Amino acid sequence: MLETNIEKKKYDVDEQGFYGEFGGAFIPEMLYPNVEHLRKQYLEIMYEPEFQKEFRALLKDYVGRPSPLYFAKKLSAHYNTKIYLKREDLNHTGAHKINNTIGQILLAKRLGKHRIIAETGAGQHGVATATVCALAGLECIVFMGEVDIERQAPNVARMRMLGAKVVPAKSGSRTLKDATNEAIRDWINNPNDTHYIIGSVVGPHPYPDMVARFQSVISEEMKWQLKEQTGKEDPDTIIACVGGGSNAAGAFYHYLENEKVKLVAVEASGLGNDTGKSAATSVLGSKGVLHGSRTLLMQTEDGQVEEPYSISAGLDYPGIGPMHSHLIGSGRAEVFGATDEEALHAARFLAKMEGIIPALETAHAFAVLDKMTFEKDEVVVLNLSGRGDKDLTTYIDFFKLNG
Ligand SMILES: *Cc1c(COP(=O)(O)O)cnc(C)c1O
Repeated sequence: MLETNIEKKKYDVDEQGFYGEFGGAFIPEMLYPNVEHLRKQYLEIMYEPEFQKEFRALLKDYVGRPSPLYFAKKLSAHYNTKIYLKREDLNHTGAHKINNTIGQILLAKRLGKHRIIAETGAGQHGVATATVCALAGLECIVFMGEVDIERQAPNVARMRMLGAKVVPAKSGSRTLKDATNEAIRDWINNPNDTHYIIGSVVGPHPYPDMVARFQSVISEEMKWQLKEQTGKEDPDTIIACVGGGSNAAGAFYHYLENEKVKLVAVEASGLGNDTGKSAATSVLGSKGVLHGSRTLLMQTEDGQVEEPYSISAGLDYPGIGPMHSHLIGSGRAEVFGATDEEALHAARFLAKMEGIIPALETAHAFAVLDKMTFEKDEVVVLNLSGRGDKDLTTYIDFFKLNG
């Protein structure tokens, strides 16, 4: 079972929704009733035995959990250490995102909501949301920037196939942040019947904590799987890529307070951190408020959010969740960056080495294996957040696989 207590811990959220100096709920007054309603009820609902029973059953029979923990023998030999891969890529819909959307759809039903809204950038969270709405028989509206709708056509088609309505955001740069604004506006206008499913550990409290708890099934499984395979529950090192930070939060969750376990967060450096084309928030960002929480974000001196850049849509976000701002700021987690090119080569290396084509996001985590040093007996778990099917055209173009 998940832990229900929120006693004071060093790295977990406090009652006000803060991780150290980061987090909280900085929202327009109009949104306050919705967020407050959720804040008051989420823990109670999530830990009802009936809820847990239904959540666990869907994770098992619909998502396909537990996801395997795979000892990557050849990769381990190459890096002269012990590397285990947590196979979130084998989940239904191909990534960890479904763990959170399954949790939130069950929560929405118990809150009496029958209309679901979500924002999406590349469409991955939109697809995961459309999937669970179909499953639960709830209306689904996904806001997506007009530019993203054009460049992510297959995911738009998937969402429509699943019965969702995709609404274009036509303001600003017509990308993720504009879609987020549209979703917030919709929620303000439909407070009674609508639940807003946020896709990462971002947004106002209680979202970061709620999403982290749903994703914490990842490290919960890691504990017993490691025990089975290595004889002890704790790895020495956990590596995960960070966009908003939900797969990393899930992989770190049950080890946060155990400081013997080294936590490594990997950000996207795009074309390089000094090129103006990067998404490495912890290096390039500063403190501010983004999407309702105080966190690190990329902004100009007068506080305008800067456009991030990464070849991988899931890491192309101008902030990181407040939990990660705190983990990094306090030194609990170490950060590495990987460029587009390093990630692409790491993806191909993994494919040839282990027969696994990772998502481009995940490939960033693999790229830092080259930048770290390991002990021979070190147990390293890398969270394999998603599969690479969606990135195949990028791989084809870069490696000229059609030629
Ligand atoms: C969306 C996505 C990410 C980034 O999101 P987080 O919230 O940081 O986990 C990483 N990997 C994959 C495969 C994704 O789809």
